[in-house]
Amino acid sequence: MQLQAFPCSPSSADQGIVHVPGNMFLVRHHLYKWKSHFRIDADGKFVEDQFFPKNLRSGRRFLRSIGASITCSNGIGKDPYIPSNEKISDARLIYAVAPAMGHNQESHPESHFRVPAIVNALEKMEMTPKFRGSEIIELQSFKPASVDDIASVHARAYVSGLEKAMDQASQQGIIFIDGSGPTYATATTFHESLVAAGAGIALVDSVVAASKNCLDPPVGFALIRPPGHHAIPLGPMGFCVFGNVAIAARYAQRAHGLKRVFIIDFDVHHGNGTNDAFYDDPDIFFLSTHQDGSYPGTGKVDEVGRGDGEGTTLNLPLPGGSGDIAMTTVFDEIIAPCAQRFKPDIILVSAGYDGHVLDPLASLQFTTGTYYMLASKIKLLAKDLCGGRCVFFLEGGYNLKSLSYSVADSFRAFLGEQSLASEFDNPAILYEEPSTKVKQAIQRVKHIHSL
Ligand SMILES: [Zn+2]
Repeated sequence: MQLQAFPCSPSSADQGIVHVPGNMFLVRHHLYKWKSHFRIDADGKFVEDQFFPKNLRSGRRFLRSIGASITCSNGIGKDPYIPSNEKISDARLIYAVAPAMGHNQESHPESHFRVPAIVNALEKMEMTPKFRGSEIIELQSFKPASVDDIASVHARAYVSGLEKAMDQASQQGIIFIDGSGPTYATATTFHESLVAAGAGIALVDSVVAASKNCLDPPVGFALIRPPGHHAIPLGPMGFCVFGNVAIAARYAQRAHGLKRVFIIDFDVHHGNGTNDAFYDDPDIFFLSTHQDGSYPGTGKVDEVGRGDGEGTTLNLPLPGGSGDIAMTTVFDEIIAPCAQRFKPDIILVSAGYDGHVLDPLASLQFTTGTYYMLASKIKLLAKDLCGGRCVFFLEGGYNLKSLSYSVADSFRAFLGEQSLASEFDNPAILYEEPSTKVKQAIQRVKHIHSL
């Protein structure tokens, strides 16, 4: 079903936003309750607690049932959402969690189990503030993105149409908002998508604030969904609702004067939405590696930007079977020199974990170790080039086990700790990488971009 505008838009109160006197408002979407309903079993497999209420499993009526409180001020004075200088100066990592528990379709790979699976793995591996003290900060409170934030990337007609469609979604339980089918919405999708984008924005604020006081600020990681990199300026696409990373890029420019933004997208699919949003923009470099021929079929090597933006889009389709060796070479020969030449003010990362060899949606051969390598090299790159300002955004990753272990190993990289990938990765399932084809693809990109 195509997205349509409906005359009976639900009020903001129906979206879970309760207006109170003055310039304050309160949003409730308690995150804590789901934590007690999900667990990792003895094999590290993610399982749903059998006592998890049925209405939450289906994702319906979520906002009335679940909530973390987010209090928003009128914006005057010190931002209450940014951790204090003392707290942030010790941190190596700051993350925010927006699991979108109401945005779910049964049996859909982009499910509400994904973020809880990661958080549970982090807890099991003692990678949370509870175990690490000031080394790791979880940003507990943040504002949802505003419609103006979203409209810096997306058409206002799309944003208002989606909000209006929530009425239909609440009547029907689930609707499909992308003509090609796989992108669904539930009654809470609009609000939860604002929360996801807001988490990314808040991490940009925190990392930028920290970078003013220390040379090695924490890396930000937005554990959010729905994902964003397929969402095009005119609408949703490919499980994605709002372009979280693109919205954060525009925000970094507008709110912090960080003119030059370098976006690395290592999801297995082409980040066509981000690509399109900045295709003619010389100040935002978009670099995507993806599996050749995978969804949505865009991101060919000759798609390099247009007009003033010609040369600031780089697409590298990798042959199926590419793995750790390919990606390490790509980083050293393409990503690092490109970023060094561009001289960014901040690096944002569309971190998709669906290139993992165990992921069901594609056929690259990345391992947990590949994601550790990418996280440590990107952190170093940001330290060398832009004062360490760097925020990761969760995109794909549909095998809950490889997704959560890979994110946990990325966390280890940010902390400067040794990888535990060898405990998870099984080299016996890997086959030989297509090294000749990889070399050709890399040479072609180097030639086109004069690297
Ligand atoms: Zn993907």
